[in-house]
Amino acid sequence: MSQTLQAIRGMNDILPADAELWEQFEEQVRDWLRAYGYLPIRMPMVEPTPLFARAIGEVTDIVEKEMYSFTDGLNGEQLTLRPEGTASCVRAVLQHNLLYDGPKRLWYMGPMFRHERPQKGRYRQFHQVGVEAMGFAGPDIDAEQIVMCARLWDDLGLEGIRLEINSLGQPEERARHRSELVAYLSGHADKLDTDAQRRLHTNPLRILDSKNPHMQELVDGAPKLIDYLGEASLKHFEGVQALLREAAIPCRINPRLVRGLDYYNLTVFEWVTDQLGAQGTVCAGGRYDGLVAQLGGKPAPACGFAMGIERLLALWLDQGNRHAVQVPDVYVVHQGEAAALHAFRAAERLRDAGFAVHLHCGGGSFKSQMKKADGSGALLAAIIGDDEAAANQVSLKPLRDEVEQRRIDFDELADTVGTLLYEWEDDDGSI
Ligand code: ATP
Ligand code: MG
Repeated sequence: MSQTLQAIRGMNDILPADAELWEQFEEQVRDWLRAYGYLPIRMPMVEPTPLFARAIGEVTDIVEKEMYSFTDGLNGEQLTLRPEGTASCVRAVLQHNLLYDGPKRLWYMGPMFRHERPQKGRYRQFHQVGVEAMGFAGPDIDAEQIVMCARLWDDLGLEGIRLEINSLGQPEERARHRSELVAYLSGHADKLDTDAQRRLHTNPLRILDSKNPHMQELVDGAPKLIDYLGEASLKHFEGVQALLREAAIPCRINPRLVRGLDYYNLTVFEWVTDQLGAQGTVCAGGRYDGLVAQLGGKPAPACGFAMGIERLLALWLDQGNRHAVQVPDVYVVHQGEAAALHAFRAAERLRDAGFAVHLHCGGGSFKSQMKKADGSGALLAAIIGDDEAAANQVSLKPLRDEVEQRRIDFDELADTVGTLLYEWEDDDGSI
C-alpha cells in the first residue's frame, strides 16, 4: 500500500472550522484598515533573491539561514519565496511609481516562508498582515500605526498584549554605538556564546537581543544605543511617545529591542503577550526611512509593521473565544425526479433573495435527509416531494422551533422564509 502524502513540516492545512475563524479575522482586519485609509496591494510570493538580500540585510538570520531559495531551472535566475512583505511592497511601489502623487498607505495579507524550526507559534509557512506607510516622515504616522494596533486588539477582544518601543536612531548614530559596543563585547569575549561570537563583527546589535540567560549580565552592562542618539532622533522618539500618552496607550521603552531586519531606523516597536510561551511577539514594526532609496528609489521615509496571524488567532482562542460557525438559513430536502428539479429551482430562488441555502445532494430517504438538515444547523428545512412539485408548492419546516410545518406556493417561498427568519430575529435579537 502506498503511504499517504503529508504536507511539508511547518506548513499547515487550515481546515474548515479554523478557516472560518480566519475569514472572520480577515473581515475584521479589512474593516479596521479601511478605517485608517489603508489601500490593499498584492505582491507575488516569489521574488528575485537579491531583493531580500539587499533589503533585509546579508547578515540577518532571515537571509543567512531562513530563506527558501532556488534556481529557476529555465533561466538560472536565483529566486526566493518571500520571507516577509516589506521588501516586495517597496519593490512594487518603486516599479509602478506609486509615490508620484504623494505618500501612500498600503496593506497586504498572505503567506510568508521561513526555514525555521517548527514549534508552537513558529512555522515555515506562516501568515502576516503587513501595513506600510510610505512618504511620511513625522512621528505622527509611527504613533498612528501603534494606536491602530491597539484598536485592533480591542476590536478582536484580545487582552494582555503589551507594547514595547525603542529608537534605533540614524545609521551614523548606530555606527558610533556599534563600534563602542564591539569594543565592550570584545573585552568580554570569554562570556560570549557561540551565536554572539558569530555576530560580534557582523550584527553586534542583535547580541543585545540574546535570549541566553548566561549573557544577561553582560548585555545589561553594554553601551545603550539611546545614549548615542542625536537631538533630532530624540525629538522624533519623544514625539511618538507624546502621541501615545495622548492616546492613553501604555508602553515600555525597551532599550534592547532591535529588529532582525537591517532596514529599520528611529522608531521600532513590538506587541508582546506572555500567554503564548516563547513565541510571544504578535506584531512588530518600525520606521525604515532608508529602504526606498536602498532599493533604488527616490528617498522616501516610511514606517510599517507586520503581525503574525497564527499567533494572534492562537491567543484569541486561548482567551476562551469561540467563533460563530457558519450555518445555512435553509436546508432543502427532496425526493423524486420532478421534486429534484423543483428543489434545484427553489434553492436558486432563495439564493436570489440573499439566503444561504444547502441543497441536499446524493439522495436518501426523507428521514435521513431530515437528519442531515438538522445536523447542518439550518433554521428551516424546505421539503419537496412529488406532491409539492406537482402543485408548484414547497413545505417549510422550522427546525429550531415548535412551529408547525406549513405548505406554501413556490412564488411565496422567499417572502415566507424572510418573514420566518425575521420573526426569530425579533424574538431574541439574533438568529
Ligand atoms: P521572531 O523574533 O518571533 O522570530 P521576527 O522578528 O523574525 O519574529 P518579523 O519578521 O518581525 O518577526 O515578523 C513579524 C511577525 O510575524 C512576528 O512578530 C510574528 O508574529 C510573525 N512571525 C514571524 N516569523 C514567524 C514564524 N516563523 N511563524 C509564525 N509567525 C511568525
Ligand atoms: Mg524570526
